[in-house]
Amino acid sequence: MRLTNRCRYALAPLAVMAMLVSVATAVELDTLLPTATPAYPEDLLARLRSAAAVVPGALPAELRYVTVAESRRPRRAVLDGGSDETYVQARTAFQLVFDNATVMIDAGMDEQVHNGFSMGTQEPYWPERNAAVQEALVSASLVVVTHEHGDHVAGVVRSPNRAAIAAHTVLTKAQVETLVLAPQSVEIRLSPEQAADYLVIDYTLVHPIAPGVVLLKAPGHTPGHQMVFVRMDSGHEVLLSGDVTWAMDGITQRTQRPTATSDRIREDRDALGFQIGWLKSIVDDGEVVVIPSHDSVYLAELERRGVIRQGLAGD
Ligand SMILES: [Zn+2]
Repeated sequence: MRLTNRCRYALAPLAVMAMLVSVATAVELDTLLPTATPAYPEDLLARLRSAAAVVPGALPAELRYVTVAESRRPRRAVLDGGSDETYVQARTAFQLVFDNATVMIDAGMDEQVHNGFSMGTQEPYWPERNAAVQEALVSASLVVVTHEHGDHVAGVVRSPNRAAIAAHTVLTKAQVETLVLAPQSVEIRLSPEQAADYLVIDYTLVHPIAPGVVLLKAPGHTPGHQMVFVRMDSGHEVLLSGDVTWAMDGITQRTQRPTATSDRIREDRDALGFQIGWLKSIVDDGEVVVIPSHDSVYLAELERRGVIRQGLAGD
């Protein structure tokens, strides 16, 4: 029993698909992973800049972030060939502040989902910060997530405010398919009925969602992974690169996660390879600030440079 492409990309039969997959073997679930994605076009940055001007309105004035939890991992688990030195992985959510509106990028997670990442150890978690993320998700005009892993998406799928948040949350078809059919953990599974509450979109490569804000398709870490390009009111440009790499060094040194980690996550390393190559060229060029989701040291540096601010608006 194989799921056809036509079936994969139609949202309506999700209920039927969920039934089919519940009896499918693990091997057959592999057919749900992304097929090879063509490398990025040469003019991608120009296309992002052009798309950033499509939605009319004032550009975002501020980029903010909050760390709701931290995980400690040896660098060798984060970067291929890394040392035994501890790497602090910040679990973050980002917020764009406009004149009269906010857009949230990623959604934090509750403590139960956090505990699932802690592998039996006690790792820092700040419930009051996640509560602030929840308030920000409710009051935002729009919410998007970089990808469908628990530390990025739990706040919009496991929340007492889920229905209210879902009404202004844009998920991609690929994200929804993973959350319904093959979620990272049972805690973040969506039923087909719940999935219908979100604003579900599909797009080919770039897609503008707000003034200055453009989604960039980047399947590899997960099938529904995407990056977010932002042109700020100041004229500065940032690219939230999600989990293409966990550490900034992964981009500057063109280093992926170790193969064992990729295998566990079931990543597409070819896709990650060209995404990292493109990100490195952007970093070398120096015009766009690239921001991975989890690099606590680099986030602190960007804060010192005035690129981002810690804490959400209204805190
Ligand atoms: Zn992550």
